[in-house]
Order: sequence, then C-alpha cells, then structure tokens
Amino acid sequence: MTRCDHCGNEVVLPFSCQYCGGKFCADCRLPPNHNCVNIALWNSKPRPAVGISYGKGGGYIPGPQRPRTKRPGKDIPYLKIMIAIIFLILVGIAWIGLSGYRFG
Ligand SMILES: [Zn+2]
Ligand SMILES: [Zn+2]
Repeated sequence: MTRCDHCGNEVVLPFSCQYCGGKFCADCRLPPNHNCVNIALWNSKPRPAVGISYGKGGGYIPGPQRPRTKRPGKDIPYLKIMIAIIFLILVGIAWIGLSGYRFG
C-alpha cells in the first residue's frame, strides 16, 4: 500500500507525476491538485492527461476518445428504396387494373 504524497490517503495504484516524481491518488494526480513544483511544465502541455501514468504496472490513461461518427456515404438510403418499391407496386396495380378493364 502506498500513501498519496499530497493528501496521505492510501492508494492501491498510485499515480506518479512525471513532472515532480511524486506518487499521488486519483484525486491528486494532476499537477494543480498536488501543488506540483513543476506545474509550469505541465501548463505548457496542451492536454493535461498526457504523461500521467500509473506508478505500478505501466498503465496508461488514454486521452479523450473521439466519438464514433457515422461514415458519410455508407448509409443505405432506405427511404428512397421504399419510395421506389411503393411506386413500382402502385404502377403495377394500376397497370393490372387498366388491363383488367380493357380486356376483362
Ligand atoms: Zn491524494
Ligand atoms: Zn507533480
């Protein structure tokens, strides 16, 4: 069991700050949350989550994931297909009906 260098809570998987080398809990892992001595370095980074890793096991916290977006052009135009089928059915019914009147 490791204790957080900032708040003293016991943590199973401490986060190690790559800027000051300290071990911190999940709440204190970010440099602003543990008054990091090298917070100026962290401030110069575009994304705060990058570079923060687990102290044990070499885990990695991924950055913000991109939301899954539908690929354009791959959607099947069901509505157009339905309209086409309905139109063909109506034409067929009309043709059968007209034929029946003429030849029946
Ligand atoms: Zn802490
Ligand atoms: Zn730090």
